[in-house]
Amino acid sequence: MKIISKIIDLNKAINRISDLGFVPTMGGLHKGHISLIKISKKKCKKTLVSIFVNPTQFDNKKDFVSYPRKLNKDLKILKKLNVDYIFLPHGKEIYNEKRLNKIKLNKSQKILCAKFRKGHFEGVLDIMERFVKLLTPNYIFMGEKDFQQLLLVKNFIESKFNSKIYSCKTIRNKNNVALSSRHYLLKSNDLIKAGFIANDLIKFKSQIMKNKNNINSLLKKKKSFLIKQFKIKIEYLEIRNIIDLKKIIINKKYKIFIAYYINKVRLIDNF
Ligand code: AMP
Repeated sequence: MKIISKIIDLNKAINRISDLGFVPTMGGLHKGHISLIKISKKKCKKTLVSIFVNPTQFDNKKDFVSYPRKLNKDLKILKKLNVDYIFLPHGKEIYNEKRLNKIKLNKSQKILCAKFRKGHFEGVLDIMERFVKLLTPNYIFMGEKDFQQLLLVKNFIESKFNSKIYSCKTIRNKNNVALSSRHYLLKSNDLIKAGFIANDLIKFKSQIMKNKNNINSLLKKKKSFLIKQFKIKIEYLEIRNIIDLKKIIINKKYKIFIAYYINKVRLIDNF
């Protein structure tokens, strides 16, 4: 396992690799990240995992400061997995070059998390482009847990580069909560609450499958119920198709998307 921080060392290390799998992360690793890494190791000759808490994708300074950082634990996990390269870049070096053209989302993309976290995905797309230029990976492994991110990055990166985005299933805990680094910030009671919410939404989806006519009113009722029952703040609870995230779901596969706060910790999921 090679740990690399400087771009000059990175270039030397991966210079001749023709089959590289890339797993971008912000650390605080859990079984969701581990599943991505295992898929990369199966599919590609070499695997590189980055750990970088990217400041430009945080719309809130407090959130950036309190984001879980668990480097020692992460490195132990990565060593056990026998990952080939770990990239721990310094922000200064990664952002040394100024962008020529600003990344802008179009109106139809400013939905769900993009609506509530101003500049978030612009920051994600920018850092992903920087990484892809540096690494030229064959595949980039990303989780369906962050479904909107997955689609945006896929469209953006695959239209500009040869790298392919490989989407990986969401890994959940025993109570059906999608694993997240932000769980480090939750009390155990809050995580149990998150389990009730997840199970409730799984049931809600099967209810919707039987009755697609008055979805808006069902969503409204469900939102009020969750707020009252679990004392959470819901940013959005929406149903959208999985192709272009529009609200048209007739004859299309769709998901329920939620973003909510438990005790000031923001969680997202989709079912
Ligand atoms: P993050 O470290 O949260 O930026 O996530 C890094 C990558 O891991 C992203 O592609 C996420 O979608 C993915 N990921 C995070 N949580 C999970 C999960 N529970 N299951 C599968 N993939 C995940």
